[in-house]
Amino acid sequence: MHIVVCTKYTPDSEAKMSVDEEGNISWGDSPLIINPWDEYSVEEALLLRDQHGGTVTVLSVGPEAALEALKHAVAMGADEAVRVWDEACAGSDTLATSYVLAKAVEKMGDVDLVLCGKSTIDAQTWQTGVALATRLGWPSLMYTINLVELRSEERSITVERLLEEGRQVVEAPLPAVLGTTKGINEPRYTSFIGIRKAAQMEYPLWTLEDIGAEREKVGPQGSGVRWPEVFEPPAREGEAEIIEAETIEEKARILTEMLLAEKVI
Ligand SMILES: Cc1cc2nc3c(=O)[nH]c(=O)nc-3n(C[C@H](O)[C@H](O)[C@H](O)COP(=O)(O)OP(=O)(O)OC[C@H]3O[C@@H](n4cnc5c(N)ncnc54)[C@H](O)[C@@H]3O)c2cc1C
Repeated sequence: MHIVVCTKYTPDSEAKMSVDEEGNISWGDSPLIINPWDEYSVEEALLLRDQHGGTVTVLSVGPEAALEALKHAVAMGADEAVRVWDEACAGSDTLATSYVLAKAVEKMGDVDLVLCGKSTIDAQTWQTGVALATRLGWPSLMYTINLVELRSEERSITVERLLEEGRQVVEAPLPAVLGTTKGINEPRYTSFIGIRKAAQMEYPLWTLEDIGAEREKVGPQGSGVRWPEVFEPPAREGEAEIIEAETIEEKARILTEMLLAEKVI
Protein backbone atom coordinates (compact mmCIF):
# COMPACT_ATOMS: atom_id res chain seq x y z
CA MET A 1 0.00 0.00 0.00
CA HIS A 2 1.23 3.48 -0.80
CA ILE A 3 -0.72 6.04 1.22
CA VAL A 4 -0.21 9.75 0.65
CA VAL A 5 -1.26 12.29 3.28
CA CYS A 6 -1.74 15.88 2.11
CA THR A 7 -0.84 18.34 4.80
CA LYS A 8 -0.57 22.09 5.06
CA TYR A 9 1.32 24.24 7.55
CA THR A 10 -0.86 26.72 9.42
CA PRO A 11 -0.32 29.35 12.09
CA ASP A 12 -0.90 28.10 15.63
CA SER A 13 -4.61 28.10 16.55
CA GLU A 14 -3.89 30.80 19.19
CA ALA A 15 -2.44 33.14 16.52
CA LYS A 16 -4.12 36.49 15.98
CA MET A 17 -4.61 37.62 12.40
CA SER A 18 -4.15 41.23 11.37
CA VAL A 19 -4.56 43.00 8.03
CA ASP A 20 -2.62 46.13 7.08
CA GLU A 21 -3.90 49.01 4.94
CA GLU A 22 -2.69 47.33 1.72
CA GLY A 23 -4.69 44.22 2.61
CA ASN A 24 -1.63 42.12 3.53
CA ILE A 25 -2.48 39.41 6.03
CA SER A 26 -0.12 38.68 8.91
CA TRP A 27 -0.20 36.10 11.68
CA GLY A 28 2.51 37.96 13.59
CA ASP A 29 5.35 35.81 14.86
CA SER A 30 3.04 32.92 15.66
CA PRO A 31 4.72 29.50 15.39
CA LEU A 32 3.83 27.44 12.33
CA ILE A 33 2.37 24.03 12.99
CA ILE A 34 0.90 21.12 11.05
CA ASN A 35 -2.76 21.87 10.29
CA PRO A 36 -4.36 20.21 13.36
CA TRP A 37 -7.04 18.47 11.26
CA ASP A 38 -4.29 16.78 9.22
CA GLU A 39 -2.99 14.96 12.30
CA TYR A 40 -6.05 12.70 12.07
CA SER A 41 -5.10 11.79 8.48
CA VAL A 42 -1.49 11.06 9.43
CA GLU A 43 -2.68 8.84 12.29
CA GLU A 44 -5.14 6.97 10.06
CA ALA A 45 -2.44 6.42 7.44
CA LEU A 46 -0.07 5.03 10.09
CA LEU A 47 -2.77 2.67 11.38
CA LEU A 48 -3.44 1.45 7.83
CA ARG A 49 0.27 0.91 7.22
CA ASP A 50 0.53 -1.12 10.44
CA GLN A 51 -2.39 -3.28 9.24
CA HIS A 52 -1.55 -3.66 5.55
CA GLY A 53 2.15 -2.80 5.25
CA GLY A 54 3.50 -0.28 2.78
CA THR A 55 4.60 3.32 2.87
CA VAL A 56 3.16 6.58 4.13
CA THR A 57 4.28 9.68 2.23
CA VAL A 58 3.34 13.16 3.40
CA LEU A 59 2.91 15.81 0.74
CA SER A 60 2.73 19.57 1.13
CA VAL A 61 2.49 22.42 -1.35
CA GLY A 62 4.15 25.40 0.25
CA PRO A 63 7.28 27.47 0.84
CA GLU A 64 10.05 26.43 3.22
CA ALA A 65 7.78 27.02 6.21
CA ALA A 66 5.74 24.02 5.04
CA LEU A 67 8.60 21.82 6.26
CA GLU A 68 7.20 22.23 9.79
CA ALA A 69 4.10 20.26 8.82
CA LEU A 70 6.15 17.58 7.08
CA LYS A 71 8.54 17.25 10.01
CA HIS A 72 5.67 16.83 12.45
CA ALA A 73 4.16 14.05 10.31
CA VAL A 74 7.54 12.28 10.05
CA ALA A 75 7.98 12.62 13.82
CA MET A 76 4.60 10.89 14.19
CA GLY A 77 5.87 8.03 12.01
CA ALA A 78 5.46 8.84 8.30
CA ASP A 79 8.12 7.24 6.07
CA GLU A 80 8.63 9.80 3.31
CA ALA A 81 7.93 13.51 2.85
CA VAL A 82 7.76 15.63 -0.28
CA ARG A 83 7.40 19.38 -0.59
CA VAL A 84 6.32 20.99 -3.84
CA TRP A 85 7.03 24.65 -4.37
CA ASP A 86 7.80 27.30 -6.92
CA GLU A 87 7.42 31.05 -6.39
CA ALA A 88 4.83 30.93 -9.19
CA CYS A 89 2.55 29.00 -6.77
CA ALA A 90 2.21 32.00 -4.41
CA GLY A 91 -1.32 33.38 -4.60
CA SER A 92 -2.85 30.01 -5.55
CA ASP A 93 -6.46 29.32 -4.57
CA THR A 94 -7.85 25.83 -4.04
CA LEU A 95 -8.30 25.30 -7.80
CA ALA A 96 -4.58 25.85 -8.37
CA THR A 97 -3.44 24.11 -5.16
CA SER A 98 -5.44 20.98 -6.00
CA TYR A 99 -3.90 20.99 -9.49
CA VAL A 100 -0.37 20.96 -8.02
CA LEU A 101 -1.30 18.26 -5.51
CA ALA A 102 -2.82 16.12 -8.28
CA LYS A 103 0.28 16.46 -10.47
CA ALA A 104 2.49 15.44 -7.53
CA VAL A 105 0.31 12.39 -6.77
CA GLU A 106 0.39 11.44 -10.46
CA LYS A 107 4.18 11.72 -10.45
CA MET A 108 4.36 9.29 -7.50
CA GLY A 109 2.45 6.90 -9.73
CA ASP A 110 1.75 3.96 -7.42
CA VAL A 111 -0.61 5.64 -4.94
CA ASP A 112 -3.49 3.56 -3.50
CA LEU A 113 -5.06 6.11 -1.18
CA VAL A 114 -4.76 9.85 -0.55
CA LEU A 115 -5.81 11.23 2.82
CA CYS A 116 -6.74 14.85 3.49
CA GLY A 117 -7.94 16.66 6.58
CA LYS A 118 -11.48 18.05 6.69
CA SER A 119 -10.24 21.62 6.33
CA THR A 120 -7.40 23.91 7.30
CA ILE A 121 -7.66 26.17 10.36
CA ASP A 122 -6.62 29.31 8.44
CA ALA A 123 -8.20 29.48 4.96
CA GLN A 124 -10.69 26.65 5.80
CA THR A 125 -12.51 26.36 2.50
CA TRP A 126 -12.98 22.56 2.90
CA GLN A 127 -12.51 22.30 -0.88
CA THR A 128 -9.04 20.95 -1.52
CA GLY A 129 -9.73 17.25 -0.91
CA VAL A 130 -12.80 17.17 -3.16
CA ALA A 131 -11.02 19.20 -5.83
CA LEU A 132 -8.05 16.82 -5.69
CA ALA A 133 -10.30 13.77 -6.09
CA THR A 134 -12.04 15.42 -9.04
CA ARG A 135 -8.73 16.24 -10.72
CA LEU A 136 -7.44 12.69 -10.24
CA GLY A 137 -10.78 11.20 -11.32
CA TRP A 138 -10.88 9.14 -8.10
CA PRO A 139 -13.79 8.60 -5.66
CA SER A 140 -14.07 11.31 -3.00
CA LEU A 141 -14.86 10.05 0.53
CA MET A 142 -15.04 13.24 2.59
CA TYR A 143 -15.98 13.55 6.30
CA THR A 144 -14.95 9.97 7.03
CA ILE A 145 -15.48 9.30 10.74
CA ASN A 146 -14.75 5.55 10.60
CA LEU A 147 -12.68 3.55 8.16
CA VAL A 148 -14.65 0.31 8.32
CA GLU A 149 -12.49 -1.89 6.08
CA LEU A 150 -9.82 -1.60 3.46
CA ARG A 151 -9.53 -4.67 1.23
CA SER A 152 -6.10 -4.30 -0.35
CA GLU A 153 -6.37 -7.42 -2.56
CA GLU A 154 -9.85 -6.52 -3.85
CA ARG A 155 -8.69 -2.89 -4.04
CA SER A 156 -11.75 -1.46 -2.37
CA ILE A 157 -12.64 0.45 0.77
CA THR A 158 -15.67 0.87 3.04
CA VAL A 159 -16.04 3.97 5.22
CA GLU A 160 -18.63 5.65 7.41
CA ARG A 161 -19.22 9.29 6.54
CA LEU A 162 -20.47 11.77 9.09
CA LEU A 163 -23.63 13.57 7.96
CA GLU A 164 -25.52 16.22 9.85
CA GLU A 165 -28.32 13.84 10.73
CA GLY A 166 -26.60 10.48 10.81
CA ARG A 167 -23.93 8.36 9.23
CA GLN A 168 -23.62 6.94 5.75
CA VAL A 169 -21.73 3.75 4.86
CA VAL A 170 -20.00 4.05 1.50
CA GLU A 171 -17.96 1.61 -0.57
CA ALA A 172 -15.55 2.68 -3.27
CA PRO A 173 -12.81 1.18 -5.42
CA LEU A 174 -9.19 2.16 -4.84
CA PRO A 175 -7.44 4.44 -5.54
CA ALA A 176 -9.54 7.00 -3.72
CA VAL A 177 -9.25 10.31 -1.86
CA LEU A 178 -10.45 10.18 1.73
CA GLY A 179 -11.10 13.18 3.95
CA THR A 180 -10.85 12.48 7.68
CA THR A 181 -12.70 14.25 10.43
CA LYS A 182 -12.33 14.58 14.21
CA GLY A 183 -13.27 11.37 15.99
CA ILE A 184 -11.86 8.95 13.42
CA ASN A 185 -8.93 8.25 15.77
CA GLU A 186 -6.80 9.79 18.50
CA PRO A 187 -3.64 11.18 16.88
CA ARG A 188 -0.47 9.96 18.59
CA TYR A 189 2.15 12.26 20.05
CA THR A 190 5.44 12.60 18.25
CA SER A 191 8.09 10.27 19.66
CA PHE A 192 11.67 11.16 20.60
CA ILE A 193 12.99 8.78 17.92
CA GLY A 194 10.54 10.28 15.43
CA ILE A 195 11.67 13.83 16.21
CA ARG A 196 15.30 12.78 15.66
CA LYS A 197 14.40 11.09 12.38
CA ALA A 198 12.48 14.18 11.26
CA ALA A 199 15.45 16.42 12.09
CA GLN A 200 17.91 14.28 10.12
CA MET A 201 15.76 13.40 7.12
CA GLU A 202 16.18 14.85 3.63
CA TYR A 203 13.05 16.56 2.32
CA PRO A 204 12.95 16.45 -1.47
CA LEU A 205 11.69 19.62 -3.12
CA TRP A 206 9.78 19.09 -6.34
CA THR A 207 9.45 21.99 -8.73
CA LEU A 208 6.62 22.56 -11.20
CA GLU A 209 8.87 21.09 -13.91
CA ASP A 210 9.49 17.97 -11.79
CA ILE A 211 5.77 17.24 -11.59
CA GLY A 212 5.00 18.32 -15.14
CA ALA A 213 2.74 21.19 -14.04
CA GLU A 214 1.97 24.09 -16.35
CA ARG A 215 2.90 27.51 -14.92
CA GLU A 216 -0.25 29.18 -16.19
CA LYS A 217 -2.37 26.80 -14.08
CA VAL A 218 -0.85 27.90 -10.75
CA GLY A 219 -0.69 31.16 -8.81
CA PRO A 220 -3.10 34.02 -9.50
CA GLN A 221 -3.30 33.21 -13.25
CA GLY A 222 -4.37 29.63 -12.49
CA SER A 223 -6.86 30.64 -9.78
CA GLY A 224 -10.58 31.21 -10.10
CA VAL A 225 -10.91 33.32 -6.97
CA ARG A 226 -9.65 36.87 -6.37
CA TRP A 227 -9.39 38.75 -3.10
CA PRO A 228 -10.57 42.28 -4.02
CA GLU A 229 -10.58 43.27 -0.35
CA VAL A 230 -9.45 41.77 2.92
CA PHE A 231 -10.31 43.43 6.23
CA GLU A 232 -10.61 42.66 9.88
CA PRO A 233 -14.12 42.41 11.31
CA PRO A 234 -15.05 45.34 13.56
CA ALA A 235 -14.19 44.75 17.21
CA ARG A 236 -17.11 43.35 19.17
CA GLU A 237 -18.67 45.71 21.65
CA GLY A 238 -19.94 44.42 24.96
CA GLU A 239 -19.60 44.60 28.70
CA ALA A 240 -18.74 41.94 31.21
CA GLU A 241 -20.05 41.79 34.72
CA ILE A 242 -18.44 39.58 37.32
CA ILE A 243 -20.98 38.19 39.77
CA GLU A 244 -19.66 38.39 43.31
CA ALA A 245 -21.09 36.01 45.94
CA GLU A 246 -19.93 33.71 48.73
CA THR A 247 -20.89 30.41 47.12
CA ILE A 248 -21.27 29.03 43.60
CA GLU A 249 -24.96 28.34 44.34
CA GLU A 250 -25.50 31.99 45.25
CA LYS A 251 -23.72 33.08 42.03
CA ALA A 252 -25.94 30.72 40.02
CA ARG A 253 -29.07 32.14 41.71
CA ILE A 254 -28.06 35.73 40.94
CA LEU A 255 -27.20 34.80 37.34
CA THR A 256 -30.58 33.07 36.90
CA GLU A 257 -32.42 36.14 38.21
CA MET A 258 -30.48 38.40 35.85
CA LEU A 259 -31.20 36.16 32.86
CA LEU A 260 -34.90 36.03 33.78
CA ALA A 261 -35.01 39.81 34.15
CA GLU A 262 -33.43 40.20 30.68
CA LYS A 263 -35.91 37.58 29.33
CA VAL A 264 -32.99 35.45 28.06
CA ILE A 265 -34.51 32.40 29.78
C1 LIG B 1 -6.89 34.69 -4.18
C2 LIG B 1 -6.22 33.78 -3.21
C3 LIG B 1 -4.85 33.93 -2.97
C4 LIG B 1 -4.21 33.10 -2.06
N1 LIG B 1 -2.90 33.25 -1.84
C5 LIG B 1 -2.24 32.44 -1.00
C6 LIG B 1 -0.84 32.57 -0.80
O1 LIG B 1 -0.19 33.41 -1.42
N2 LIG B 1 -0.24 31.73 0.10
C7 LIG B 1 -0.96 30.78 0.79
O2 LIG B 1 -0.37 30.02 1.59
N3 LIG B 1 -2.29 30.62 0.60
C8 LIG B 1 -2.95 31.43 -0.27
N4 LIG B 1 -4.28 31.30 -0.43
C9 LIG B 1 -4.97 30.28 0.35
C10 LIG B 1 -4.84 28.96 -0.39
O3 LIG B 1 -5.52 29.00 -1.60
C11 LIG B 1 -5.43 27.84 0.42
O4 LIG B 1 -4.81 27.81 1.67
C12 LIG B 1 -5.20 26.48 -0.22
O5 LIG B 1 -5.66 26.44 -1.53
C13 LIG B 1 -5.90 25.36 0.52
O6 LIG B 1 -7.20 25.72 0.84
P1 LIG B 1 -7.65 25.67 2.33
O7 LIG B 1 -6.53 26.24 3.18
O8 LIG B 1 -8.98 26.27 2.44
O9 LIG B 1 -7.70 24.12 2.62
P2 LIG B 1 -8.97 23.17 2.84
O10 LIG B 1 -9.59 22.87 1.54
O11 LIG B 1 -9.83 23.69 3.94
O12 LIG B 1 -8.12 21.92 3.37
C14 LIG B 1 -8.54 20.56 3.25
C15 LIG B 1 -7.34 19.67 3.24
O13 LIG B 1 -6.62 19.84 2.01
C16 LIG B 1 -5.24 19.58 2.21
N5 LIG B 1 -4.47 20.76 1.84
C17 LIG B 1 -4.87 22.04 1.76
N6 LIG B 1 -3.87 22.84 1.37
C18 LIG B 1 -2.80 22.05 1.18
C19 LIG B 1 -1.45 22.28 0.76
N7 LIG B 1 -1.02 23.51 0.46
N8 LIG B 1 -0.61 21.23 0.68
C20 LIG B 1 -1.03 19.98 0.98
N9 LIG B 1 -2.29 19.71 1.38
C21 LIG B 1 -3.16 20.72 1.48
C22 LIG B 1 -5.08 19.23 3.70
O14 LIG B 1 -5.17 17.84 3.87
C23 LIG B 1 -6.30 19.92 4.32
O15 LIG B 1 -6.66 19.36 5.56
C24 LIG B 1 -4.95 32.10 -1.35
C25 LIG B 1 -6.32 31.95 -1.59
C26 LIG B 1 -6.94 32.77 -2.52
C27 LIG B 1 -8.41 32.60 -2.76
